[in-house]
Amino acid sequence: MIVQELNAIQQKFGYLPEEELRAFSKRSQIPMYRLHEVASFFPHYRLKPPATGTVLICRDLACHLAGASRLLQTLKATARETDERIEVGGVSCLGQCDRAPALLINDQVIWGQTESQLRALTRDSVHQRTRGVHDELDKGPTGWQIDPYEGQPRYEAVGLMLDGELSPEKMIQELELSGLFGLGGAGGATHGKWSEVRKEPGATKYIVCNADESEPAAFKDRELLLRVPHLVIEGMTLAALTVGAEKGYLYIRHEYHDQIAAVEAALAEARERGILGQRILGSDRTFELEVFISPGGYICGEQTALLEAMEDRRAEPRNRPPQPMKAGLWGCPTVLNNVETLAWTPAIALKGGKWYAGLGVNGATGMRFVSISGDVKRPGVYELPFGGTVGELIKHAGGLKGTQSVQAIAPSGPSGGFLPARLRVDQVSRKFAERFFTGGRTEMSILDLPLDKPTMRMLDVPLLSAVVVIGSEANLLDLAKNCLEFYRNESCGKCVPCRIGSQKLVEIAEDLIQHHGAMSPQRAEAIDDLATAMIQTSICGLGQVAPLPLTTLMTYFPNLFRKTDLPKTRS
Ligand code: SF4
Repeated sequence: MIVQELNAIQQKFGYLPEEELRAFSKRSQIPMYRLHEVASFFPHYRLKPPATGTVLICRDLACHLAGASRLLQTLKATARETDERIEVGGVSCLGQCDRAPALLINDQVIWGQTESQLRALTRDSVHQRTRGVHDELDKGPTGWQIDPYEGQPRYEAVGLMLDGELSPEKMIQELELSGLFGLGGAGGATHGKWSEVRKEPGATKYIVCNADESEPAAFKDRELLLRVPHLVIEGMTLAALTVGAEKGYLYIRHEYHDQIAAVEAALAEARERGILGQRILGSDRTFELEVFISPGGYICGEQTALLEAMEDRRAEPRNRPPQPMKAGLWGCPTVLNNVETLAWTPAIALKGGKWYAGLGVNGATGMRFVSISGDVKRPGVYELPFGGTVGELIKHAGGLKGTQSVQAIAPSGPSGGFLPARLRVDQVSRKFAERFFTGGRTEMSILDLPLDKPTMRMLDVPLLSAVVVIGSEANLLDLAKNCLEFYRNESCGKCVPCRIGSQKLVEIAEDLIQHHGAMSPQRAEAIDDLATAMIQTSICGLGQVAPLPLTTLMTYFPNLFRKTDLPKTRS
């Protein structure tokens, strides 16, 4: 209730006026300290009036690669020349990495504009004239495998469950056969989650869809929400019918304006058709579903942080166990799945788990959506089989821009660090070497690397389906610093190793850049110690992956560093 009311106040006034907070406190009997506890945590909330024109440029990986830093300086100069009431600054990833650089102008997401158009929009921002820049979004039929209805949502899988032709046990069995796992990055088996929540006692259970896609380079859910929102709704309904839940929430990042509108329209249609609400499709089952708009912040994508935000608290991840399947939203058993994971379940229910598993190639199972960005000709979202290689993915995206070759890839946004154009046998785990370095080979091209969960695990990289291709002209140390800054900015601060360590890593990267990669043995050891402490003691994934942008450069790109015996004061 607090979060949604604060959202409404900010929507109306552009910030949270103190008198409005006091009025809210009075009518709700919620003390002011609770309101400030929440309002001060989330970056979306402003406690002071914003500038008359606000121009924020995404500063993260793909936008940085596309020249966001230089654009920031250009637009700052434009603002200075135009009107002192225009404020220009940076913002965390807006989920538009394929359209980099992306901006937020007066709270509207802007992309695909030339520099001169952006200068004009900056000048106009003071008059609040930015609406209508992107009126034509393609929402046409997709031809995707995920959509069994070919653009005509029929909710047949829900019908089968309500008719008793598809029992909850059979649904779980098909999910198990499919091998479907969490496609938001956590990677847990979907059938396991659903089955566990089904077995939990208690009358109140929840279904929560995590649509808070905020990892730099991840934007596949953006397209699914826009183009096939009914599949997400049907997936949530199937989960509800399977586990015995009557209430669900679709938790979505607030910058996804078009996606929120698409989901709201689909929800209205589903209610109209009797698919949601009480006595769905004339049965005795109830499932109410509503949208919960996130107050912002990358950490809200962490599932327990998301639950904290929904419960009107600061989005600090919980210690686990208990897992959300036992004690999730409001302490009740909760299925918490990613958008894509849920959207695959209607097709699996109708076509069978074996059908989905059979979509994989090269020994892998299943299919998924990949966001690809960076130095490729056609960045975007592609539906591809697991087991396909990096080379095939880059081909789908039209190959590299200009005359560049691959210098590196970030296989999971900043969360997986960087992999080089050629992997050497002495740089990889024994397991990986046994699989890929057969017949006396000592090197392999990154283009031959299959993108699937077991392979990524052998490289200690999470599988996020967010690939950034980095061309030969990029400065990798600068990109690593950019990724480290992201984690420093987004750390919730709950645990010391992450809060202090993420800042320390940024300082080390700055120093390395300033000293042209000078790496003394003492510094290398200090980085290693810091990374180990963060990986072993951070509560959530953010702190555990934060060192990877730097440590993977040290492993795979030794030529970026100059050996020196001089101890550096800042490490
Ligand atoms: S690891 Fe970082 S982001 Fe995660 S709970 Fe700890 S401080 Fe917060």
